[in-house]
Amino acid sequence: ILSRDGAPGYLSIDLDALRQNYRYLCARTAPVPVAAVVKANAYGLDVARVAPVLRDAGCRDFFVAHVGEAHRLRQFVDGARIFVLNGLQPGAEDGCADAGIVPVLNSLEQARNWTQTAAMRGRRLPAVLQVDTGMSRLGLPPEEASALAADGTLRDRLELLFLMSHLASGDASEDVQNSDQLAAMKQASALFPSLPVCFANSGGVFLGAGFHGDLARSGIALYGGMPTDAIDNPMKPVVRLDVRVIQTRTVPAGARIGYGGAHVTTAETRLATIAAGYADGLPRSLGHRGAAFFDGVRLPIVGRVSMDSITLDIGALPAGTLKLGSLVELIGPHQTLEAIAADAGTISYEILTSLGDRYHRDYR
Ligand code: PLP
Repeated sequence: ILSRDGAPGYLSIDLDALRQNYRYLCARTAPVPVAAVVKANAYGLDVARVAPVLRDAGCRDFFVAHVGEAHRLRQFVDGARIFVLNGLQPGAEDGCADAGIVPVLNSLEQARNWTQTAAMRGRRLPAVLQVDTGMSRLGLPPEEASALAADGTLRDRLELLFLMSHLASGDASEDVQNSDQLAAMKQASALFPSLPVCFANSGGVFLGAGFHGDLARSGIALYGGMPTDAIDNPMKPVVRLDVRVIQTRTVPAGARIGYGGAHVTTAETRLATIAAGYADGLPRSLGHRGAAFFDGVRLPIVGRVSMDSITLDIGALPAGTLKLGSLVELIGPHQTLEAIAADAGTISYEILTSLGDRYHRDYR
């Protein structure tokens, strides 16, 4: 993380908004608790800063994707339960068992491997069982879930904490896939009576109490991303990004701008080049389409996005307004995370997890 002086831009992360978002989700699912999904370094926002705030706000359950992430997280959330979504990789068993990390078992094979580790230790080991309810990504398909349910020995050796599944279209409130997956979840649940259920992601929280199960599991909404298309984004923005101007110039009509000369001016044009590019989470697809803002004024991106810089048309501002060192807004009150993601043809998740470590970060 670069120092404030000379930084190419400033990434402000509002930890109070994060806390409020957690509380808001808990209020929506009450009395069902909400677990925090903090994989990919808490969606790029730094798990070392994010996880303790959530734990202090009452969160007791954390999900990561990989075992390595779980080991790192352990130091920030002592006493909390940590679950590994991507499952149990061969060779990771002992490390998980030693650190009290709970794998999500995604197949019969993984369940067997975990019971072997348990047998060697002479005790049952905790696990979560993921069933595939229709996303066809991870989890036991129905026949494997039935086989496991019928295998008394296997079940006796596992300390199953809950059954989980993931919604493919939780953010799309009208998508029939949601009710289909809920029905499949109920069927899977019938195989494991009395086992609690963890089902809803951020979008699922807004699909109604039927989707909440016994533990919700939220990521993007905590970080201010839009969880559902059903209502305007109710989450507090967590991220603000301002980037420095590193050069201004005026070019005549006919000037070719950036790589490939892909933009050609049709009139004299005032330009500003700013100090962030696709290596800083501002995708190439923002070229010709996206914008930055200054005092609420839209400054279109002209030409292609470079690795470390972007060129803006600043003709909408009075001459001399922007100079070397000025800051323009990329994510903030005039351009939401969702808006920049839409301009880039991607989703908020991808923008957040790509922001990188070249901005100066302020956690407040
Ligand atoms: N559960 C699983 C299995 C996931 O893969 C994810 C995120 O991708 C989440 C929960 C959190 O989803 P969201 O960020 O939409 O709340």
